[in-house]
Amino acid sequence: MTGSTPKDELDRPHDLVGVGIGPFNLSLAALAHGIPGGLAATFYEQRPAFHWHPGLLIEGATLQVPFLADLVTLADPASPWTFLNYLKSRERLFPFYFAEKFHIQRAEYDAYCRWVSERLPGLHFGHQVDSVRWNPERRLFEVDFTQIDPEGEAEALGRAYARNVVLGVGTEPYVPEPLRPLAEAPGVPVIHSADYLTHRASLLAADHVTVIGSGQSGAEVFLDLLRARPAGAERIHWLARTEAFAPMEYSKLGLEHFTPDYTRYFHSLPEPVRGELVPRQWQLHKGIDADTIAAIHDELYRRTLHGGWPDAVLTPGVRVRTAGRVATTQVELHLEHLQQGTRSRLTTDAVVLATGYRERPVDRMLAGLDPYLRHDASGRARIDERYRLVLDPSVTGSVYVQNAEKHTHGVGAPDLGLAAWRSAAILNAVTGKEPYPLPRRTAFTSFGLEAREAPSIPAQDRKLTPLTQNV
Ligand SMILES: Cc1cc2nc3c(=O)[nH]c(=O)nc-3n(C[C@H](O)[C@H](O)[C@H](O)COP(=O)(O)OP(=O)(O)OC[C@H]3O[C@@H](n4cnc5c(N)ncnc54)[C@H](O)[C@@H]3O)c2cc1C
Repeated sequence: MTGSTPKDELDRPHDLVGVGIGPFNLSLAALAHGIPGGLAATFYEQRPAFHWHPGLLIEGATLQVPFLADLVTLADPASPWTFLNYLKSRERLFPFYFAEKFHIQRAEYDAYCRWVSERLPGLHFGHQVDSVRWNPERRLFEVDFTQIDPEGEAEALGRAYARNVVLGVGTEPYVPEPLRPLAEAPGVPVIHSADYLTHRASLLAADHVTVIGSGQSGAEVFLDLLRARPAGAERIHWLARTEAFAPMEYSKLGLEHFTPDYTRYFHSLPEPVRGELVPRQWQLHKGIDADTIAAIHDELYRRTLHGGWPDAVLTPGVRVRTAGRVATTQVELHLEHLQQGTRSRLTTDAVVLATGYRERPVDRMLAGLDPYLRHDASGRARIDERYRLVLDPSVTGSVYVQNAEKHTHGVGAPDLGLAAWRSAAILNAVTGKEPYPLPRRTAFTSFGLEAREAPSIPAQDRKLTPLTQNV
C-alpha cells in the first residue's frame, strides 16, 4: 500500500513503527498482522515497491536456506503468509510438490515476498525515514520521514509517533578502499555485484572481465559470465583475497550455529570473546555453496572436452593494492599475492566487485537518540538479548534491530532461517505477552557448559580418574 498518510493517523501513536521493508521487517509485519486483537503497526520503506536484491536474481540462482525459512513458518506454520500458502494462491502447490526442490529460486522468493508486501496492511513504500527521536513529554518516539515519488523526488514530509521502533534497514554494498574512486567514477566499468544484472549485457560485451571476491555472489557472477562467453575466448579473471575458493559450511551440526540456541549462547559470551569469534566463523556466513562450486568445475571441465583449457584464470590469495584507469576504457589493477609477496598488474575492460555488504549505518538517523544510547567497549550500540538497543532507563519505549546485531547475537543475524523466530521474539517483547510461543530448545548441540559449583571437597583430596589426553 503506498500514497499519503492522513494527518490524524499520525497523531494516533503506533505500537510499532518499522523502518525498512526487507525480508526481516516484512516477516515482522506478517506476524504482527496475525496477532489476535491486532497491533497498531506501520512500516516505511524508501523504495517504491518490494524488490529483493534485484541485481542478483540470476537465472537458476537459489536461496541458501530451505523454503521453510520463509517469512513466518518457523514461528507460525498456520499463518496465511507462508510460502506454501503463496503457492496455493497461485495454484502451484502440485507442481512444487513434484518439483521436490527444498531450495527455491531466488526469483521465486522475491515474488513470494512481493505477494505478501502487496497484501499486508500498514506498509508504506516510497517513504524514507530520516530520523528517530525520543519525545520525553509524549513518552513516544517521533519517526520523521520523507515521502518520495517514483522518480525519487521528495514529495512531502511526515511524522509518525510510536511506542516502539524496529530498525530493519539491512545492508549496503561494500567497496574496498583502493577501488572506491573507480567504482564511483561515472563511465568506468567497475560495478558492485549488487548491480550485476543491470550491467550484464555490457559485461558480456567487454573483451576481458575481472571478478573480485570469493563469496557466493562472486561465484555466481563468475559462473554466469563463464557460461555466456565463447569457449576458448572466455577472457575472465576471478581473484580473491581468501586463501581458497572455499565452500560455505553446510553440515547439519554446523548449521546449528543458525539456531536460537546458539544465538542465546553467543549473546551470553563476554564481548571480547564474541569479537574474535565472528571473523573466525567466516565459513559459516561466507564461502561458496558446494553446488555452485561443482557447477563452476563442471563448466570449466566441459570446456576442455575439445582440447585446450578455458581462458579463465582463478587466483585466490591476491589483494588489489591500487587500481587506475588506462586510456578511457580500461582499468589496471595492481595486485599483490599475500603468500608469495609477488606483485603484478592486470589490465581489464570491466570489473565486478563481489566484495560483500556492510550493515547500513544508522548513526545519522539515530542522532537524536544519542544521549540515551549505550555503547560497548568498541563504541558499537549495545543490544540486549531481546534485540533491543540498550537505552537510558528514562526512555520507556524500545528500539529493536533486525540484521544489525552480528556483534551481539552472532552469525545468524543476516540468516533468513532466523527471520520468523526473531520477529516472534520481538513481538512477544513488544506485546509483553506470548502471541508466538517459542521453542525452548532448537539444537542437538548444547552450546556452552552449565556452571556447576565444584564440590566442597578440597582439591588435594579429590581423586580424578586420569583420562586420555584429548577427550
Ligand atoms: C544476493 C543476496 C542473497 C542472499 N541470499 C540469502 C539466502 O539465500 N539465505 C539467507 O539466509 N540470507 C541470504 N542473504 C542475506 C540476507 O538474508 C539478505 O541480505 C536480506 O535481504 C536481509 O534482509 P533485511 O530485511 O535485513 O535487509 P534488506 O533486504 O537489505 O532490506 C532493508 C530495506 O530497508 C530499506 N531502508 C534502508 N534505510 C531506510 C530508510 N532510512 N527509510 C526507509 N527504508 C529504508 C532499504 O531500501 C531496504 O529495502 C542474501 C544476501 C544477498 C545480498
